[in-house]
Amino acid sequence: MNRVLAETYPEAHCELDFDDAFQLLVVTVLSAQTTDRRVNAARPALFAAYPDPRSMAAAPREHLEQLVGPLGFFRQKTTSLLNLSAAIVDRFDGEVPGTLEELVTLPGVGRKTANVVLGNVFDVPGITVDTHFGRLVRRFGWTTETDPVKVEFAIGDLFPKKDWTMLSHHVIWHGRRRCMAKKPACGACPISQWCPSYGVDGPTDPIEAEKLVRTQGPA
Ligand code: SF4
Repeated sequence: MNRVLAETYPEAHCELDFDDAFQLLVVTVLSAQTTDRRVNAARPALFAAYPDPRSMAAAPREHLEQLVGPLGFFRQKTTSLLNLSAAIVDRFDGEVPGTLEELVTLPGVGRKTANVVLGNVFDVPGITVDTHFGRLVRRFGWTTETDPVKVEFAIGDLFPKKDWTMLSHHVIWHGRRRCMAKKPACGACPISQWCPSYGVDGPTDPIEAEKLVRTQGPA
């Protein structure tokens, strides 16, 4: 199934734009409860004003709130960015650390965010269990676990470590384009022959299913 997903989505990658580890950490935190598209739109102004942890830690709260305003939960997100930047400055001399153990000590950074940064910046394989990944691997019958950390370990047991980062991209990409939460495009799904959830939540008719497929840009 992973091989076919890789063939179907050869361009699969992290859909958040970033230039370095700090930017990816910040945009991943900002992506909670909103779309990657919105975060990508807010990114240029944010990092033009505060390109590194030191400048962001010293940012006036009101200005930061203005910049993250379009993403919702702006007070909470501003607090997260201020605390995160300050912790990187105070404890890691202004450099984003490159291990899971250190990353998860940063405020607002859980295993999901840490694995995104490890896999996409530090070339350390990581499984990113976001809402898409969890839903899909349960639909695929790869695990019955619902707790994200248990899902991460269960799927990690099924695949070689070197494949973890790209596996995450393929599964999440499929979740955004065909295997959506409400109405998956089962009749237009390249892995339907192996999927125990084929037709359970979505149409099996190829024409009806094809209309559900999302092909345009970041989800
Ligand atoms: S068959 Fe349906 S439920 Fe299974 S992976 Fe494909 S789109 Fe998702």
